[in-house]
Amino acid sequence: SEELKLLKDHIESFPDFPSPGILFRDIFSVFRNQSASQALHSLLKSYALSLKGQIDVVFAIESRGFLFGPYIGQVLGIPFVPIRKKGKLPGVVERLEYGLEYGTDCIEVQEDGGKVGQKALIVDDLIATGGSLTASCQLLKTLGVEVVECFVIMELADLNGRQKVPSKVVSLLQF
Ligand code: IMP
Repeated sequence: SEELKLLKDHIESFPDFPSPGILFRDIFSVFRNQSASQALHSLLKSYALSLKGQIDVVFAIESRGFLFGPYIGQVLGIPFVPIRKKGKLPGVVERLEYGLEYGTDCIEVQEDGGKVGQKALIVDDLIATGGSLTASCQLLKTLGVEVVECFVIMELADLNGRQKVPSKVVSLLQF
């Protein structure tokens, strides 16, 4: 669609960031342009409305997922709950430590962020290897919520990250 084209045209790519060989796709460049920003807003609204009645709670991954999660939650009239790196969230949290290529990472969610049996959506800006979404799905399992879908703005399709993720993955743009 015109909106998808407008959105894609305003995502800037940065070679060798944050490390050599990585082509970094920057969602923030969209928000510098009024019409691209509007297109994203409209695409998010249509996507959210297509989920009406199917989702009880929206989770998003720190930090760029936070740009979209609250809005999707608001359109659907359901809560938004953050998934964050270790030590950032107050109150009682569930924690998951998971393996990376080098070392480990640790994510947390507040334990009252979802109730057993609730249907959940997880949102992020981009899927690369699928490691972050896979870990988030695992973390939410400890709350007893059912992740019915993961949503990203951008998908690095060559990496086939969606194959690793245990839930359905929906992306607006493929690179
Ligand atoms: P994955 O865990 O390998 O799927 O990587 C996805 C995570 O890394 C997401 O949280 C993204 O925000 C971040 N990420 C990886 N590559 C990029 C990029 O090119 N642009 C923006 N974020 C990226």
